[in-house]
Amino acid sequence: MQHQVRRQAALEAARGAGVDALVVTHLPDVRWLSGFTGSSGAVALGRAGAALFTDGRYTTQAKAEAAGLRVVIGKGSPVAQAAAWLAERKAKKAGFDAVNTTVAALDAMRKVLPAGQRRSFFVATQGLVAKLREVKDADEIRKMRRAATLGCRLFEGVLTNLSAGETESEIALVMELEARRAGAEGMSFETIVASGKRSALPHGRASAAKLPHRGFVTLDFGVLLDGYCSDMTRTVHLGKATKREWDVYHSVLEAQQAGVSAVAPGATCGDVDEAARSVLRKAKLERWFTHSTGHGVGLEIHEGPRIAAKQKQVLEPGMVVTIEPGVYLPGEFGVRIEDMVLVREKGHEVLTRASEKAWVEL
Ligand code: ZN
Ligand code: ZN
Repeated sequence: MQHQVRRQAALEAARGAGVDALVVTHLPDVRWLSGFTGSSGAVALGRAGAALFTDGRYTTQAKAEAAGLRVVIGKGSPVAQAAAWLAERKAKKAGFDAVNTTVAALDAMRKVLPAGQRRSFFVATQGLVAKLREVKDADEIRKMRRAATLGCRLFEGVLTNLSAGETESEIALVMELEARRAGAEGMSFETIVASGKRSALPHGRASAAKLPHRGFVTLDFGVLLDGYCSDMTRTVHLGKATKREWDVYHSVLEAQQAGVSAVAPGATCGDVDEAARSVLRKAKLERWFTHSTGHGVGLEIHEGPRIAAKQKQVLEPGMVVTIEPGVYLPGEFGVRIEDMVLVREKGHEVLTRASEKAWVEL
């Protein structure tokens, strides 16, 4: 039922883009529209209905997961089958995903069409389904809450392992093991553990470096639970901090809380970015905040909307975004704090609230 509602919305979006059919190949989109989680599949949507195309490896799985949807196991690539199916059912113009379709795939899709339709049948569209996925329904929100809560548990659990001499990789391993034990399919992206001077690297993936006696450790990580990603960052300090370290941490924390407070339906993404950024500007740290404030998250770790300077997009209830300002002083240290925040009918809800972000000194 839920998938059917989504397919109807996708078809309406397609019509808005001037096509009467859609070939969907981006796997998170395929999953969102059909429930199918396999690694090879395409969904065709048109006036004649919808169908999921995959290959023989997924016969049983596709029929179980995409209950209520026609499943076609055929020869050739799923995307070419989807194209042929739509053409046979008198679709006039079909949108395809310009971002995720290769030239080779488009060739294969065209080859199966009657000669007269090859030139005009396909129309490039961008992010039609991704746009719809930005607003989560009740079932998705439930899953994301669970993923976020598990993320918090991993952080609380790993705190006792954070001591001088442990390697960053060992810390990542402890968290990843615990994630698997708790039922996660895996991590939603490569775990970042960046300690000491490495904390100044915004994307310092866990390395063989040993945690220092004194200095920051930034942990940025997420789980993949029931298909949905969590994403959070905490920065803790080992040993006694300098005043400068304490000050920078608290500027980032203040910026992060200002960003979170600005999350509400009707606010623009640019407003939210500015709420966080202006705190760091006042603290004369803005030039070291070298990325945007946040991003949407869901079936993919990075989705719309983008929480960045001057973004006009308006937040809507059901969106889940991260708020993650950071300050990176090259050769010295860095601090980032990140929460996942759900936009509610009124205001917002921090999904990663179970884990403390106040100053932690170990
Ligand atoms: Zn993150
Ligand atoms: Zn993030």
